[in-house]
Amino acid sequence: MKTSRRKFIGLGASVLSALPFVNAFGKGRMTPATKPIVVSTWNFGIQANVEAWKILSAGGRSLDAIEKGVQVPEGDPKESSVGLGGLPDREGKVTLDACIMDEKANCGAVVCLEHIVHPISVARKVMEETPHVMLAGDGALQFALQQGFKKENLLTKESEAAWKEWLKTSKYKPIANIENHDTIGMVAMDAKSNISGGCTTSGMAYKMRGRVGDSPIIGAGLFVDNEIGAATSTGVGEEVIRIVGSHLVVELMRQGNSPQQACEMAVRRIVKNQPENSKQIQVGFLAINKNGEYGAYALQKGFTYAVYSPEVQNKLFEAKSYY
Ligand code: ASP
Repeated sequence: MKTSRRKFIGLGASVLSALPFVNAFGKGRMTPATKPIVVSTWNFGIQANVEAWKILSAGGRSLDAIEKGVQVPEGDPKESSVGLGGLPDREGKVTLDACIMDEKANCGAVVCLEHIVHPISVARKVMEETPHVMLAGDGALQFALQQGFKKENLLTKESEAAWKEWLKTSKYKPIANIENHDTIGMVAMDAKSNISGGCTTSGMAYKMRGRVGDSPIIGAGLFVDNEIGAATSTGVGEEVIRIVGSHLVVELMRQGNSPQQACEMAVRRIVKNQPENSKQIQVGFLAINKNGEYGAYALQKGFTYAVYSPEVQNKLFEAKSYY
């Protein structure tokens, strides 16, 4: 896999120890209200945060920061899990899922969108230019083309080669945290305390044609409530959908839990539902609240996320995990 995650794993312990990993909050630690703040999933979150921060630090809107931020991995052909260069489904087609949500509960999503490098921007157009929340497949493509997006081939030589290699065995088991997926989920609060989020992915590599995961589903892969906070997820989307994960995290924060506690409770819900399956797969949640506190938690070790705030600057953290 040519994702940054593999590169990251390949860097080994020496570089890992030099990175400013910090586990989220120690129990009971309160942080002062922090804003603006942007957090995003996995190692590519660092680069995505840099773009988002340009907007946030200039007093811009969190929604704009989200769109620009997640466009970074979407447009990077070396990232095999998002946008251009994403690994295809089992028929060799790159199908993209994305959603976006703003501080007024406006939201838009595209599922199974082909040929468009920036599905997050099409999702935003769905939100702003249509009376709908979600467009799928050919209809989403047709809409994107009408909106002036360019039709492109998203299957890079490398992704095609990886798919052909996969075809030799056609084994499909969504063991996460290893080769076959990651997604950028990003949530941010701007200087005016408005919260937005976005989530974009090519989904599980070699998925069934037409399969849609959690990432473009409002409430599953992403949820924003401007009174409370926002959450996003990554990992085996089916497990996140089963618990409507990001909505669950936000509702748990509404009940007074910190982002860290809420992410932990959501992961424990997955374990409770599927004790055996949960040992084999990865799911990670990442959340912020209205005070600019953040938290993350995953089933398995290895879920990284990036935080950019005046206090933290732009750092990569490794989430605590259940296993
Ligand atoms: N959640 C994504 C999906 O299920 C995949 C991922 O995060 O890697 O499509």
